[in-house]
This record gives sequence, C-alpha cells and structure tokens, in this order.
Amino acid sequence: MLDNNCVFCKIIRGEIPSAKVYEDDKMLVFKDIEPKAKVHLLAVPKNHFKLLSDMDEQRAETIKYMLEKIPEIAKENGLINGYRLVINQGDDAGQTVFHLHIHILGGETLSW
Ligand code: 5GP
Ligand code: ZN
Repeated sequence: MLDNNCVFCKIIRGEIPSAKVYEDDKMLVFKDIEPKAKVHLLAVPKNHFKLLSDMDEQRAETIKYMLEKIPEIAKENGLINGYRLVINQGDDAGQTVFHLHIHILGGETLSW
C-alpha cells in the first residue's frame, strides 16, 4: 500500500502538489520537478514498493500495465519523435526516491 514517509505516496494522496498528466486506479504520471530533458515525466505505480528487486507477480502485472499505457501517454504529451524510459535501481544509479518509478524523457535529441 502507501508509505507515509514516501514523497511519491504523498503525491499520490494529493498531500504534495504535482503537475499530473495522467491518472487511473493503477498509476499516476506527473512532471518531474527538476526536468533532465525538455519533457520529463515520472510514471509511478499506485502501490508503494521500493526497488526493481522487490518485484513479484502482482507488481510485475502493474509494471506491464504501465508499459502498455506509456506509449499513448507519451504521444499525448507531444513525444512523437521518440523518448527514453529509465528506471534507476539503487545507489550507483543515483536513485533518490525509493518508490519504483519510470522516467519518461524526450522532447529533444537525448545524449547519453
Ligand atoms: P530517481 O533519481 O530516484 O530515479 O528519480 C527521482 C526523481 O524524482 C528526480 O528526477 C526528482 O527530480 C524527482 N522528484 C523528487 N521529488 C519530487 C517532487 O516532490 N515532485 C516531483 N514532481 N518530482 C520530484
Ligand atoms: Zn511510495
């Protein structure tokens, strides 16, 4: 379920404002507060879990659902020329929010 100390759970509950671009019963997509590309969205599952390594069958179902939805959400947000999906896992990747999320980056030519 949701975690009281988690910033993304607070966003899901509406306790912290966010620029939402898509929401349904399973997922929320909102603009990253510090965009690393012209378009930088964050797709988060509504059930809190920290890491890719915490995956189980039910969570994987939600991630599959999110991956099915992301192309239409990307299109609605102007990402017609491509985009990049990123999941940061753990400290070496620089993960700062421990509620699994998929970065959606685009709106310009992306460099590595
Ligand atoms: P991570 O480094 O964990 O993969 O990514 C966390 C992302 O969440 C960062 O890109 C950061 O800018 C974003 N972020 C952190 N706090 C907030 C917030 O309160 N609101 C929004 N919209 N984005 C946030
Ligand atoms: Zn959370």
